[in-house]
Amino acid sequence: MNRLKYFLLLAMCFSLSQAVAQRTIIHCGKLIDGVSDNVMTQMSVIVEGNKIVAVEKGYTRAKKEDTVIDLKGKTVMPGLMDMHVHIEGESSPARQLQTYTLNPADIAYNAQVYAGRTLMAGFTTVRDLGGTGVNVALRKAINAGKVQGPRIYTAEKTIATTGGHGDPTNGAKMALMGDPGAAEGVINSEEEARKAVRQRYKNGADVIKITATGGVLSVAKDGQGPQFKMDELKGLVETAREYGFVTAAHAHGDEGMRRAVEAGINSIEHGTFMSESTMDLMIEKGTYYVPTISAGKFVVEKAQIPGFFPAVVVPKALEVGPQIQETFAKAYQKGVKIVFGTDAGVFPHGDNGKEFGYMVEAGMTPMEAIKSATMMAAELLRITDDYGSLSAGKMADIVAVDGDPVKDISVMENVTFVMKDGQVYKD
Ligand SMILES: [Zn+2]
Repeated sequence: MNRLKYFLLLAMCFSLSQAVAQRTIIHCGKLIDGVSDNVMTQMSVIVEGNKIVAVEKGYTRAKKEDTVIDLKGKTVMPGLMDMHVHIEGESSPARQLQTYTLNPADIAYNAQVYAGRTLMAGFTTVRDLGGTGVNVALRKAINAGKVQGPRIYTAEKTIATTGGHGDPTNGAKMALMGDPGAAEGVINSEEEARKAVRQRYKNGADVIKITATGGVLSVAKDGQGPQFKMDELKGLVETAREYGFVTAAHAHGDEGMRRAVEAGINSIEHGTFMSESTMDLMIEKGTYYVPTISAGKFVVEKAQIPGFFPAVVVPKALEVGPQIQETFAKAYQKGVKIVFGTDAGVFPHGDNGKEFGYMVEAGMTPMEAIKSATMMAAELLRITDDYGSLSAGKMADIVAVDGDPVKDISVMENVTFVMKDGQVYKD
């Protein structure tokens, strides 16, 4: 009988706590909601659990049970989204050797540090465009609340052709090189393309990433040439579409880029030597452009340091690096849909916010740059119902900076408040 009473009491307490909703009221000096082009002043965002329940004019008065967060001196905006990171690693002179020395557990310990830094920089969502598979485990650990980090949409492993930019055995001695196949993301036919996509599905990927042309940091000579045939691209993109994947193509040279766009890829990454006709084709097809200007700047800088990169990488870094910002400026002028992405992992995680400054430097308005990292990114990931803007019903991913980013975009490099899924991580 005592036991029954105890359970009844417990049940009552539980229903009582349910009845009194725990609201968090955020007083926002300035508010960018991700949709409007105007910065609103003196607003309140009201959060219940992991959701925004209201956005109100003025500083809403709190009831006794409410929690108030005072951000009156800050500009509040939706959680930032970086559509191109590599959460598992960071480039350094040791990077090539680490391919052969790090175990998955080592990578996992590193990755959780990088994930924490990314979240503290205000990025509550990232698209991870290729690693070893630890990225999938990290996503699970973050979603389960075991590790602090952004919400991850991961490609698991990149898909490439033999010797292509994403072939994981490039630069290895012959005995270690082997002949990786679709399971490792290396394909050489339309059939293998389908298999590689299906393997990513099985392994738990959220998105598909392909390396449509050569790249800078691979231990291989060519940084620009096309690396897939049309039938292979068709196999990749069509299969990905059937499995509901958003697709991304790394591309520097124009021909490989054009082919990927023609095959129906959702986004072009880097886009370094994008021609005007490819820009037109992207506008026609609605293809997004994820510029990663930060990566270009970083590789040019580090290529000056002897031994930072393997010798074969240096000329590619010097050729590709300086071009990206110029191409971004042209694509922006022409009206290509631009989504924020940095290639963090090429440079240190947590420095993602510098990209905003590079975009503005190349002619984009600060508000458009912010929208490219909020609403536009959510659009690319097809998650606008829940993320990318601040309004009633959306998930509570909310960040803030001191000052006004529309007047000084550099404040985006120092996010001082971070809430993800209704939980405060930085205040
Ligand atoms: Zn990348």
